[in-house]
Amino acid sequence: MKRRTIVIATRNEGKLREFRSILSEAYDEILSLADFDEIPEIKETGLSFRENAFIKAKTTSDFLGMDSIGDDSGLVVDALGGAPGIYSARYAGERASDNDNNEKLLSELKGEKNRNARFVCCIALVLANGTQEFFEGECCGQIIQEKRGESGFGYDPVFYVSQYGKTMAELGPDIKNRISHRAIASEKLLSYFSNLE
Ligand code: IMP
Repeated sequence: MKRRTIVIATRNEGKLREFRSILSEAYDEILSLADFDEIPEIKETGLSFRENAFIKAKTTSDFLGMDSIGDDSGLVVDALGGAPGIYSARYAGERASDNDNNEKLLSELKGEKNRNARFVCCIALVLANGTQEFFEGECCGQIIQEKRGESGFGYDPVFYVSQYGKTMAELGPDIKNRISHRAIASEKLLSYFSNLE
């Protein structure tokens, strides 16, 4: 059974594209913050992926009286003590581009042998009826020395997935949307819905 409309609490087009493809079987209509100019800017003041995901979903659901999903995601690099973590989007500064962030990451890891990293995603689901649920996913890889590939967004060009021998940006959306942190968290969300029915 389809579940009508959900609002994804994001303005990030890369994320929205991935959520649309993953959630199309559960919702008729998938909207985002871009569809609601009246929603005030949501500040990510949490200290964890989970707290930030919740802030986004709860603010959006309360404001619109609709079901909402907030996701907070980022890159956790072992040799950097978990950085950039929840600060992934603004690692190289408040208005940093993906390219700026990748360049900063490569420079911080210059000469570092331990390149282990993981993408983390926490999805918070807040329904108009007050239900709150959380779903988490991780995807492990290594940070390579230079950018490779054109697809995806964010740190995809430097995130190497050894199982495929390619960066996330070389893999393309079909494979990424099966193995990514967001896909794994979303699978858990979908099975939560199917268990409800
Ligand atoms: P958020 O919008 O606060 O969750 O920030 C997420 C940031 O983490 C993005 O702007 C990217 O820099 C990074 N990120 C999250 N998911 C991915 C991904 O799937 N690929 C590459 N970078 C990602």
